[in-house]
Amino acid sequence: MNAWQDADGHVAYVSMEVAIENDANTYAGGLGVLAGDTLRAFADADVPAVGVTPLNDAGLGEQHLEDGTQTYEAADWDPSAFFDPLDVSATVRLGDDTVTVGAWRYEVETADGSVPLVALDTDRPENPGWARSLTRSVYGVGLDRDDALAQEAVLGIGAVRVLDALDYDVHTYHLNEGHASPLVLELLRRTGIDPDAVRERCVFTTHTPVAAAHEAYDYDRLDALLDLSEALACVRERTSAEAYHTTRVALAFSRYANAVSKRHQWVTHDLFPDYREHIDAVTNGVHVPTWLGEHVADCLDAYIDGYRRAPSRLRHATLVGDDDLWAAHQAQKRDLLELVAERTGVDLDPDVLTLGFARRAVPYKRPTLLFEDTDRLRRIAAHVNGLQIVFAGKGFPGDDAGDALVSEIHDHIDALAGDVPMAYLPDYDLEIGRRMTAGADVWLNTPRRPREACGTSGMKAALNGVPHLSTLDGWWVEGHVADATGWRIGPPPFDPETQALSDDEEDAVDATALYDRLADDVLPAYYADRDRWLDVMRNCIALNGAHYHARRMVGEYCASAYASSSSA
Ligand SMILES: *Cc1c(COP(=O)(O)O)cnc(C)c1O
Repeated sequence: MNAWQDADGHVAYVSMEVAIENDANTYAGGLGVLAGDTLRAFADADVPAVGVTPLNDAGLGEQHLEDGTQTYEAADWDPSAFFDPLDVSATVRLGDDTVTVGAWRYEVETADGSVPLVALDTDRPENPGWARSLTRSVYGVGLDRDDALAQEAVLGIGAVRVLDALDYDVHTYHLNEGHASPLVLELLRRTGIDPDAVRERCVFTTHTPVAAAHEAYDYDRLDALLDLSEALACVRERTSAEAYHTTRVALAFSRYANAVSKRHQWVTHDLFPDYREHIDAVTNGVHVPTWLGEHVADCLDAYIDGYRRAPSRLRHATLVGDDDLWAAHQAQKRDLLELVAERTGVDLDPDVLTLGFARRAVPYKRPTLLFEDTDRLRRIAAHVNGLQIVFAGKGFPGDDAGDALVSEIHDHIDALAGDVPMAYLPDYDLEIGRRMTAGADVWLNTPRRPREACGTSGMKAALNGVPHLSTLDGWWVEGHVADATGWRIGPPPFDPETQALSDDEEDAVDATALYDRLADDVLPAYYADRDRWLDVMRNCIALNGAHYHARRMVGEYCASAYASSSSA
């Protein structure tokens, strides 16, 4: 297919989290879901690849909601129900201990192929107690900061050594976010400190749009933890940074680097001006067969051949008939409302416009923006035909800000009961994500600019013909076609006036814009102009579903990231 695919060797896709199946709680959120979709698209497209991740078998906790208070229950899952143990191991020197890293294998299977996912596991009897928990929970939740660093060392160094033990011939290491950056140190060691040779082997995807969120560690701490002083000295010299900055390390030692949307590329150029030339943009995409609801899938099958293998054919969705599309959508909506009734006891009406909002409960996603002016929200929902809303989202266990957001949303749900019917689905996961993006009428997204690097749930919605109502951030800056694929909330991304506002002022501006869009555009189109609404639904699939899919994303990686090696 392209020069790279003829070359020998595998792409090793290394990620702190990978979402594989609903009952294997291996992931925290969007990054893991994206990694899972990427591996599925590798399988579909026959890309020789292998994923590497920590086992994360302690899960992230199951969310329980009672009167708006979220609590978490341990969500250990049984690796042997999903993975096969591999008879290999490697060791990583951490402080005074030699830690053994074992491995499991999961087969990521799609209709067209499969790729292996190797999960690293330090929970072995020969390891000291402190090291046994290093691969148990995503992002070292529950670990202290030193152990979180050790977890990254296990991922990066362990990935290289375990793939070696498995006899993989790795052509390219793809660092999905900076967590695996110690991989660079290991490659430096084994090349006899040859930075150019390391650069030839690595590509890097950054996902972080905010300076403070890029991880940095003291060199002294790394030096004390790892026996890789020479490699560290080389990194220090090449990145000339005060601290070991995972993103800078990955940028400096990758032959190719990318941001995850056009908007995020601009933001990243501003964060790392010295790498401006180096940072490309590959906008994320979602795996079509995974996220397309069954009724819309059946409906599309009647009009478009082979779109699962060639999702760009979804462009033909402009031809889908009104009645067929509406019936398919309503069936998916009823499925969602059934799930809501089952899990929350709240009965919602399939003929009422339903907004969906499902996100990790973190402040930048602003899940409470909709409640800035509850009187205005009440008046909007008093439209003859009404408005109802389905929420979902977990915080990180132990994160007070997330707990506060979830309980605030519940307070509003209670206070507005009778005026604005709302429900909160507990324990947001892949299945809830699937049902919500397939069955809502409008997908709501309100991130604070420029905090959303890309966002993928709106792409899942678009694929199902569900329009997006969102602040212009992440992928929506490029995916928004006014009045065709959805609606924007508030000013354009680089508006100097907005950039000068305080957070509170920006919230007020965006909330007003959100209410205006609902009252002036969304409700009138939904209830009074069904023909136009169906045009928007078709356009969502034809313009955005046909482009924001994982096959296109992986095709771009093959063409620009993996093919860019001169050492092949
Ligand atoms: C798609 C998905 C995400 C990521 O969605 P964003 O829009 O990036 O927030 C997170 N969690 C689950 C369960 C998902 O399905």
